[in-house]
Amino acid sequence: MIRPDPDFPASYAQARERFLAAARARGARIESFENPAGPGLDGEVLAADVAVLGPSDARDVVLIQSGTHGVEGYCGSGVQHALLRNGDELDAALAAGARVVLLHAINPWGFSWRRRVTEDNVDLNRNVRPFPVPDGPDLDYEEVHGLLLPDHWPPGAANEAAIAAFVARRGAAHFQFAFSHGQWSRADGVFYSGRAPTWSQRTLREVLRRQVRGAARFYWIDLHTGLGPSGHGELIYAGRDVAADIARARACWGPSVTSIYDGSSTSAKIGGMVGNAFYDECPGSELAAVALEYGTVPMDAVRDALRFDHWVAAHAPQDAQARARARETMLEAFFVDTDDWKTAILTQGRDTLAKASAAIRAA
Ligand SMILES: [Zn+2]
Repeated sequence: MIRPDPDFPASYAQARERFLAAARARGARIESFENPAGPGLDGEVLAADVAVLGPSDARDVVLIQSGTHGVEGYCGSGVQHALLRNGDELDAALAAGARVVLLHAINPWGFSWRRRVTEDNVDLNRNVRPFPVPDGPDLDYEEVHGLLLPDHWPPGAANEAAIAAFVARRGAAHFQFAFSHGQWSRADGVFYSGRAPTWSQRTLREVLRRQVRGAARFYWIDLHTGLGPSGHGELIYAGRDVAADIARARACWGPSVTSIYDGSSTSAKIGGMVGNAFYDECPGSELAAVALEYGTVPMDAVRDALRFDHWVAAHAPQDAQARARARETMLEAFFVDTDDWKTAILTQGRDTLAKASAAIRAA
């Protein structure tokens, strides 16, 4: 259970209700995209909601996105709500002439059911890739699938020893790459890219076409949790391996912006990131894009939560108790219910928007 908080929600249903109320109070234009995979955990409608402030012909667009990884929306929705509720940073962006788009719960199914994946067990941030996927198995992932999701849970000492041996033989970085790069060969596996665009990807593209296409400059902040030191927000460059785009993100948010392309990020080199959609949908715009990745608990705990969550989905989908335990474990891995953590999260979220506004003023 999450303690009551004015910004960070206790459920997807509450997050949506609060987001829409705060957006209306600010006078935002609202568009909602209902996900047919509903209803959610509490019987609620599942939807991605878009709140838009500022002129429709603005040259600069700022998009702040939550819930790409479902359960991570507990954090991201809190940041969005805080920005709407106490809006100095939002006001500064609007005063600079920008249109501000808040995209809430782009993966509402995962948010509601406290999973990182979409309704099709797909990692949305691996799904924006060319289809069809290659013929044949994903050999890097095939080496680790059985280690990650053994037949029995909890996995036991032999499994732990086998993972340790793999890491000793191939290195921790390769292990992280092998399981998280976006595999295409196991529909019940972890970090699955899918075999077609998900509803969430199609919806994201629609939002980009409606709200971003035609802008001169596009500032994209995608809110995530689960990697890095607790409470620390790592700004990870979120576009393609294009030198000018990486330079623009660093000019906006500072030299500490990390990149998966030069090994400076805690994230492994992954494929199919949502940032890819920009290049198709917004030709002619300049991109500055980051994932704001907040650390929660140690990486092993995050990984084990993901493994358990997938194991239950694959091996015990009818076991209501196991599913409830998986949801609780996932929430604890991707959200930290302490005042210190939440304060650190909000401070960095506000700062990230403030830097985008400064870049817009300077442009
Ligand atoms: Zn994430």
